[in-house]
Amino acid sequence: MGHMDNWLLYLLIVAAIGIGWWLRGRERVAQPETVGPNYYNGLNYLLNEEPDRAVSAFIEELEVNQDTLETHLALGGLLRRRGEIEKAVIVHENILSHARLEKGAMLNVQLELARDYLLAGLLDRAEELSITLSREEGDTRQAARRVTLEVYEVEKEWEQAIEVAQLLAVGMDSEKYEKAISHYYCEIASDCLAQKDFECAREAIREAIGHNSHNARASLILGQLDLAEGYFEEAISALMRIKDQEPVYVPESLEALAEAFGKSDLPEQQYRDYLEACLELTPSISIVLSLATSMRDEIGDEAMSKYIANHLKHNPTIRGLTQLIDLHVDNTSGVAKQNLTILRSFAEALVADKPAYRCQGCGFEGKKLFWHCPSCRDWATIKPIFGLEGE
Ligand SMILES: [Zn+2]
Repeated sequence: MGHMDNWLLYLLIVAAIGIGWWLRGRERVAQPETVGPNYYNGLNYLLNEEPDRAVSAFIEELEVNQDTLETHLALGGLLRRRGEIEKAVIVHENILSHARLEKGAMLNVQLELARDYLLAGLLDRAEELSITLSREEGDTRQAARRVTLEVYEVEKEWEQAIEVAQLLAVGMDSEKYEKAISHYYCEIASDCLAQKDFECAREAIREAIGHNSHNARASLILGQLDLAEGYFEEAISALMRIKDQEPVYVPESLEALAEAFGKSDLPEQQYRDYLEACLELTPSISIVLSLATSMRDEIGDEAMSKYIANHLKHNPTIRGLTQLIDLHVDNTSGVAKQNLTILRSFAEALVADKPAYRCQGCGFEGKKLFWHCPSCRDWATIKPIFGLEGE
């Protein structure tokens, strides 16, 4: 949405007015009195940079028929891309109410309208129209189902989303929708776990793994579920799968993992070996800090701060630095302690407003991990940011 789209809109309207003028010109031969003043008005609105009124003039004056359909659709699509959804709805409804189109063209316009409704947040209308369209044979069927699926995702109607996604998970799209279905089951499992309905959570997680055995999120939820039910060793083996599935998500599992190891009879060394193996795959400061914490009682504060400092030399992060300062603050006094405290607040301020996660699909950034990108609506594309201001 920028200059390019503005420029296109102007060009389109000028072209449309031109076409209308030309069509009217043909009629004028038979009926000289039918020249509409709106062409001139439309042009004036454009010249005066009033695209709103130019759009209305366009709709009023350019008859919808098979010849002008593409122009109307282009205008509707352009308005939607510019975020002017209400005007896009007007353009598409105008086509449907005025044109006698062949069936395929009619279905396409209805599909555009369903997309407008979805973007405008008119979810009931988007759902109804897209379901009607998905009953029709032809090219629009799968596209209509994708609109229905998005409605259910927005409404968090996961059971219904699963049903529709299963119809979409065919051919080339199979992998993409199987991945989404796995996440719908993860959503159900998380809700059940939050309500302490362990049986429902376990059932949903089994499905999540069945639809995508590489889904690290399913391992994370299964680990939390086992932990909540007191199966500590099972929790540990579920959480440890994340290293082989998607090691960037290991930091998300550290809290549950530390708790499970603490409550299990397994040796602490096994915990450290695992963390060290993870660290080789992903240089995360959270993993370093977990390791350091686990060794603190044995090796003491000084060795622990050396260990963290050594990691920071290779992978400097501000979060690591603040932890390091914390360790030293405990062991200093007087002016040195005051200075360290000031230094710490500077370091904290540096990262306070910085995002911790970024979507690898669209670049969306945030401080919290979303499994479903709020911007591009893809699943598990948001990952922790590594580097000075991140992990
Ligand atoms: Zn995204």
